Order: sequence, then structure tokens, then C-alpha cells
Amino acid sequence: MDDTVSIAGLDSWIRAFAELVAEHKDSLSDLDAAIGDGDHGANMDRGMRAAVAALDESPPATAKALFSKLGMTVVSTVGGASGPLFGTMFLRIGSALGDSTEISPAQLAAGLRAGLDGIVARGKAEPGDKTMLDALAPAVAALESAAAEGADHAEALRRAVSAAEQGRDATIPMLARKGRASYLGERSVGHQDPGATTVALFLTAALRAPL
Ligand code: ADP
Ligand code: MG
Repeated sequence: MDDTVSIAGLDSWIRAFAELVAEHKDSLSDLDAAIGDGDHGANMDRGMRAAVAALDESPPATAKALFSKLGMTVVSTVGGASGPLFGTMFLRIGSALGDSTEISPAQLAAGLRAGLDGIVARGKAEPGDKTMLDALAPAVAALESAAAEGADHAEALRRAVSAAEQGRDATIPMLARKGRASYLGERSVGHQDPGATTVALFLTAALRAPL
């Protein structure tokens, strides 16, 4: 397969993600109200609106410039735990994609792997801690195996969305071991993690864009 995604495709992914976050702003904050401080949807919506405004102002020409702008905007506007974590993920994706203007499924998988590694380095969470990683790690693994099998972007992303949604749902019975939700101990059990929910929206946005 020589299916590739252009910078315009990556740009529409980011914009579709901003739209999904805006659409789900209240439900993301409701999830966070149950096990945190109720600001996750508002945090992410503020950041993604600012990111779209920054992209409108000066459209980046490479994948690295695009994701760097997104990452820096998210770090400086989102705050909380998720600002530095999602911001780091976007910055690492940008560095991994580099100056490419046509991204293959294998490159996209490698980019998201780098983003995942960045979140782990920064937040020190492990699988099963009830965080965004519990949706992202299975999604990245699905992208990698799809790319290795020669799947095109649409097929790889369908599998990644499905893996992310399963990972998101699997956070419900988990006990939170990182972030604000961990202060609740046993009372965090039975609630879906907001950050994992946002990760599933990020993957869904790529399918919706379409790339
Ligand atoms: P805050 O907790 O500061 O209010 P948000 O509400 O925006 O920040 O984000 C909460 C989300 O951040 C959680 O649902 C979880 O997925 C994620 N999170 C928190 N701590 C970590 C961590 N150490 N590693 C990975 N993800 C984390
Ligand atoms: Mg919060």
C-alpha cells in the first residue's frame, strides 16, 4: 500500500478533533466531575479552539510545524494534568513526523508511538492506572499491526478507533493510580476516565476528517 496523508489531511484531522471536543465538552467535564474537578472538557475545548485559531493565522507547511504549533498551544492554554500531557504527545508526534509532507500508515503509527512514549516519560503512568494511556496504548498497537500488514490509513484508523474505544471502556472498573482521580482511591472505580475518552475522540477525528 502506498496510501499517504498530506499536510492538509493532518490539518483537517486536528480541526475535526477540535470540533469533536467542542461537541463533547460538557460530557467530558461531567466525567471529570465524577472523579476529578470537572474541568477536562472546558480545558481541552479552550486549547483546541486556540490551536485552530493559531493554524488559521499561519498555516504550517510541514507535519512537524503543524503538530509543534498544536502542542505548544495546548501546553500554554489547557493547564491541569492534560495540558502538558496532550501537549507533549503532539510535540513528540511532530518531531517524529519531521519534515515529511506525505505520511504513510507506518509513519503515522511511529508518530503516535513517539507521542505515547512522551506521555509515559512525563506522567509516569502505566497501563491499568486509569489514564489516557489506557486508550492510547491499544490504539497505537493497533495502528502498528495494521501498518505492518499493509493496511491503508482508513483501515488502520478503524482498528485504532475500535481499540481506543475498548481501552476507554476498560477504564470504568479500574482504580485510578495517577492524577486527581487517584485521590479518590476505591471511589474512582466505576467511572470512565475523561482523558481516555478524549484520546478515543482524537482517533475518531482522524477517521472522520477524512485524512
Ligand atoms: P486535571 O486532573 O489537572 O484537572 P484534566 O481534568 O484536564 O486535568 O485531565 C485529567 C486526565 O488526565 C485524566 O482523566 C487522565 O486521563 C489524565 N492523567 C492524569 N494524570 C496522568 C498521568 N500521570 N499520566 C497520564 N495521564 C494522566
Ligand atoms: Mg480535571
